Amino acid sequence: MNMNYLEEIKKLEELDKKYIWHPFTQMKDWLEEKPIIITEGRDCFIKDIHGKWYIDGVSSIWVNIHGHRKKEIDDAIKKQLDKIAHSTLLGLANIPSIKLAEKLIQIAPKPLAFKSRHFALTKVFYSDNGSTAVEVALKMAFQYWIHKGVKNKHSFLSLKNAYHGDTIGAMSVGGIDIFHKTFEPLFFKTFKAPSPYCYRCELEKTPSECSFECLTEMEDILEKHSDKIAAVIVEPIVQAAGGMIVWPEGYLKRVRELCNKHNVLLIADEIATGFGRTGKMFACEHEDVVPDIMCLSKGITNGYMPLAATLSTDEIYDTFLGEFKDLKTFFHGHSYTGNPLACAAAIASIDLFEKEGTLKSIQPKIALLEKKLKEIADLPNVGNVRNKGLIAGIELVRDKFSKEPYPWEEKIGWKVAYKAREDGVLIRPLGNIIVVMPPLAISVENLNRLMNVIKKAILSVTNN
Ligand SMILES: *Cc1c(COP(=O)(O)O)cnc(C)c1O
Repeated sequence: MNMNYLEEIKKLEELDKKYIWHPFTQMKDWLEEKPIIITEGRDCFIKDIHGKWYIDGVSSIWVNIHGHRKKEIDDAIKKQLDKIAHSTLLGLANIPSIKLAEKLIQIAPKPLAFKSRHFALTKVFYSDNGSTAVEVALKMAFQYWIHKGVKNKHSFLSLKNAYHGDTIGAMSVGGIDIFHKTFEPLFFKTFKAPSPYCYRCELEKTPSECSFECLTEMEDILEKHSDKIAAVIVEPIVQAAGGMIVWPEGYLKRVRELCNKHNVLLIADEIATGFGRTGKMFACEHEDVVPDIMCLSKGITNGYMPLAATLSTDEIYDTFLGEFKDLKTFFHGHSYTGNPLACAAAIASIDLFEKEGTLKSIQPKIALLEKKLKEIADLPNVGNVRNKGLIAGIELVRDKFSKEPYPWEEKIGWKVAYKAREDGVLIRPLGNIIVVMPPLAISVENLNRLMNVIKKAILSVTNN
């Protein structure tokens, strides 16, 4: 590496520290660190400015599915770029957004009949990130009841440990104190049900004696307050940012039943779980659940471009139809809604699922992940391991028997992540939880390596 290049790197590091305020980052710490500047990606690897390659162990924050520099997606964007980069969906249409909408409806959870009702996701409303997809869902649900002439459904029911994004509405239905507590005075009113976090059950049940008591609490809230609740919003099966909390089987289905019984909508936030992450295209499919509204983002473009979609049923959509003067219009839209480049990337990414048999080819990788997690579960400071498909969490504890957590300040998760970097693995923990979420396209061999590095890093850090 020549002197000029080293000078250039130093300059970039300084400029980053001078100008950039990084998300979810204590900048005082950042200023003392040597930043990793990423310059290139390929398959499940990313390369830093010094030429060192790392396994992208959390898929560039959960967005990458088929790997980096995927030819089909690169080509789709280039091809679209030769036509037009952006035009608006406000009063105009564009080709990629039309074609993508059809595909999204085709791959959405299969329609279901339930009693006299028919559940089918049929309409696509675009936005450009997960938080906005959630804002759209909340506003749709809220206004739906107004159009139906049902008064007072001004609130939502969400779960503790929930994460639905960082805008004010999305935070209002969030449930992670460390992120959300500060902003509480700004939130609208919500009801909170317990999180089915079995390892640390709020109701102090063990799996063998559990009969979904946490759902009884949700049911109590619905019985008392369903007249005030527009929708229940959940991250189906895996509460991701809350610590990769994997729900017990059957919980999601029961939530759907409770929503039906109490006449509230169900919003499924599949932003983290969508696009094959959990082993099926969408997590809802594991329990044959069709939500009334479904939020998608993250994996939708294979992490190439910011894009989100909020899917809804005809039942909801139809209530927004009316005379122009009636003001039933859904007054919501973003500048980049339905961006053609992003939609082109998403179409190519969805096509790859079929072309490469992605959902089938991940099955042996899920089996390997589970085998490696079992080994890791035996380590002295690992309290719990959990996964659904290729999403996994490894919860580190100071004391395995009392489940005493490491204090937040100890940054134990980060210590493991830093250790793993030495062996060419990039991961980002959630507090004391080590997150494993590689691109679905990772090879068996690389997944094995990823897990071995994580195991070694945990051992090395927790032994001290
Ligand atoms: C990441 C995430 C969001 C927010 O998406 P952004 O694009 O970061 O705004 C919302 N819900 C879930 C479940 C997520 O994982």
